[in-house]
Amino acid sequence: MPAPYDLQREELVQLLDGEPAFRVRQVWDGLHQRAQRPEDMTELPAALRARLAEALPPALTEVSRQTADQGETTKWLWSLHDGAQVETVLMHYPDRVTVCVSTQAGCAMACSFCATGQAGFQRQLREGEIVEQVAVAMRAAQPRRLSNVVFMGMGEPLANYDRVWPAVTRLHGEMGLSARHLTLSTVGVVPGIRRLAAESLPVNLAVSLHAANDTLRDSLVPINRRYPLALLAEACDEYVRASGRRLSIEWAMIHDVNDRGSDATELAQFARPLGAHVNLIPLNPTPGYAVRGSSPARVRNFRDQLEALGVNATVRMTRGADIDAACGQLAAAVTLRKAAG
Ligand code: SAH
Repeated sequence: MPAPYDLQREELVQLLDGEPAFRVRQVWDGLHQRAQRPEDMTELPAALRARLAEALPPALTEVSRQTADQGETTKWLWSLHDGAQVETVLMHYPDRVTVCVSTQAGCAMACSFCATGQAGFQRQLREGEIVEQVAVAMRAAQPRRLSNVVFMGMGEPLANYDRVWPAVTRLHGEMGLSARHLTLSTVGVVPGIRRLAAESLPVNLAVSLHAANDTLRDSLVPINRRYPLALLAEACDEYVRASGRRLSIEWAMIHDVNDRGSDATELAQFARPLGAHVNLIPLNPTPGYAVRGSSPARVRNFRDQLEALGVNATVRMTRGADIDAACGQLAAAVTLRKAAG
């Protein structure tokens, strides 16, 4: 059975065969513009509502919901139809409301410091499973309006391009999210970046760099052995030229691993020609990686070095660390394994 956001418009037309034609628009707009579940579409006759609710069951079943930061951050753990589990994080800021969505159950990229990577890969998420995370967040954000979507949850978005891109265009075209407020984050899947450069919708691109010399990056981010820094820089340059967007570089600050003066110099050499903005994220603790995050003083010092080298850098506030909702901590499968024991 399709989930509501797997449905293409023509399929909805078929499903509503025999109903007055205006029902198609009503249901489509309800799903997308108001993020409504079929059972909440009160403008429909009760019998139709019930039929749609049965024909289009939700893709996500809530396993748990936790809040942190005085209610400003919510993390959901979802179970999918086959029992796979993923997480979604909603964050309220004074000037925006952002949801961080998962694109895969688990992840095959195996970055050493990332909890999802430590747990391994389960499967690709479908378009409907990705979009429904946003719809749930839209409902939960009310009365505020969800403004931003970051594809920075579990999984590597560009390793699931064929479902992620349709999800992006649905969020933009049907749900009214502006391309400027959609951000794909990649570990550096070069063919995916090149494909993205050929799309007509200019979304933001964030590259999880973490090291700007190949020896260190090979050890932190294994995909670097396949797509080393020189290739990555070329693909990023192509994206920046094609999209006109400023590139973001993510850098998880790891004590004595990538927070030294030489690291700042190498990072500046990579970032400056691309005109990239650097986000420094203090490393969040994960069970499989013993090294600790850089101290606040070292993070500040690193930022100052980058600024002195002509690179814009900001330190990203950590949200939800106490409910394991912070960057790199999403790991439903690990929790599951621990529970199973
Ligand atoms: N696979 C994509 C998106 C998911 S990870 C990517 O790699 O970009 C989202 C961000 O969290 C990435 O920048 C990732 O490198 C970072 N991250 C992973 N583990 C982390 C940790 N333990 N502490 C801080 N950031 C981490």
